[in-house]
Amino acid sequence: PARTRFAPSPTGYLHLGSLRTALFNYLLAKRTGGQFLLRIEDTDQKRTIPDAEQRLFQDLRWAGLQWDEGPEVGGPYGPYKQSERSLVYKEHAQKLLDSGNAYRCFCSAERLNALAEHRHKLGLATDYDRTCASIPKEESDDRAHRGESHTIRLKVPDQYPTYKDLIYGTFRPLKKRGHVTESSFEDPILLKSDGLPTYHLANVVDDHLMKITHVIRGSEWMPSTPKHIAMYSAFGWTPPSFAHVGLLVDEKGNKLSKRNFDTDITAFKEMEIFPETLTNFAALLGWSHKEKSDVMDLKTLVDKFTLKFTKGNTTVTFGKMQFLQRKHALSRAQVGGAKFQEMVTNVANLLTAPDSPYQDWRKVVGSSFPEEYIAQIIAVDAENYTNANEFLYRNAYFFTPLRPFHDARAPMSTSSDIPMRAQQFLSSIATEQDWNKENLMRKVHEIIDGREQGKAGSKDVYHYLRKMVTGQEEGMRIYDVMLILGRRETLARLGVEA
Ligand code: GLU
Repeated sequence: PARTRFAPSPTGYLHLGSLRTALFNYLLAKRTGGQFLLRIEDTDQKRTIPDAEQRLFQDLRWAGLQWDEGPEVGGPYGPYKQSERSLVYKEHAQKLLDSGNAYRCFCSAERLNALAEHRHKLGLATDYDRTCASIPKEESDDRAHRGESHTIRLKVPDQYPTYKDLIYGTFRPLKKRGHVTESSFEDPILLKSDGLPTYHLANVVDDHLMKITHVIRGSEWMPSTPKHIAMYSAFGWTPPSFAHVGLLVDEKGNKLSKRNFDTDITAFKEMEIFPETLTNFAALLGWSHKEKSDVMDLKTLVDKFTLKFTKGNTTVTFGKMQFLQRKHALSRAQVGGAKFQEMVTNVANLLTAPDSPYQDWRKVVGSSFPEEYIAQIIAVDAENYTNANEFLYRNAYFFTPLRPFHDARAPMSTSSDIPMRAQQFLSSIATEQDWNKENLMRKVHEIIDGREQGKAGSKDVYHYLRKMVTGQEEGMRIYDVMLILGRRETLARLGVEA
């Protein structure tokens, strides 16, 4: 069983990219019968956004990604918030000092800046020059004792260790000299001068203490991983397995970012994207499967999950999300229950909202529409449902008496028997007393069959019928429309006496 974690920094809200990271970790844990942890990495207090943590909790729960250990649920390796674990990191930095794997750095910010600038001008790597690495232990202890400001740095081996990424294979960091610099290979700071840990130290110590077996994270963390591996070996610990997933980019190849409001989870909620749509959509961003269909709810994703990811960036196409949304709408309608009722309620609320564009229509009808009526419409047209507003717009003719369309009779071709055929249909439908689906289907099929047999004007008659009843050129099957509207309303729209 895998123990995985999602380790967000509360410096922003959950967005598509981080939701995907959380999801992959969740799926691996659940697939293997393990645990999914949530850890808040708030070491950078200056950049922390006050409500980010609460929003993260809310959004993860909304998406169905409940954590087994973490804030608000606890667990054996807590606390799960890094700002509450300062002592743990201090102790661990001390361990590395004691074992000679780390050293105190007394260099001032000014010196470090000047050094970097100087080396940059010479075309050298701007790495820290390790001046303080050679300070004798006694002197270092003494200066620290007297309260001199310092950081603690990891003494990395001359050869950075390689590691095998589950997706990218062997990762061999090459130290580049010359003008192209790789500052990520310098001796990283573990503990800052204020005694608080850097991301690197806190992340590694916590993953070890929390017994994490697999780390799935964005490829932007790949350059940091050799540092982490070096730290694991300095501690004498076995590192977890790493799987880095590619960045999300838009169709122009630009990186989607946290700051991009469009991809904030809130934006999807406001679009009424279902949680199961969003997790389905996020799962397909870089993960490949062998199923026949891309449409999978969270449970199915757990069942089918493997660590088969594509290398490189993944392009996000939002059209795919709408496709998945319609598929999940259809399955909500087929299953029924609370999730279907949610759709009905959304449409009902939109119809009756004081600022609703449908208010006027409601006034025309003179009463509100019963929920069963709305439910019937959604059930028949669920495969086209994306959100309440678009749905209403598409099916607006159910919520207005539509008398105006009478004046705009559908254009009839000049073919002579069309008015007659239309008339035949109208009188036959007018006498239909038993308004059930079968009878209506049969009546409509008489026209459609005519059309198929190439009978002159059948197409026009059918078109005329749709236009009269719905005011539109396209829409759900006409006998369904007639059934839902009922006999009286249908005949009124057709302009025939009941
Ligand atoms: N706190 C880091 C972040 O915000 C976690 C990176 C990791 O998963 O190691 O993405």
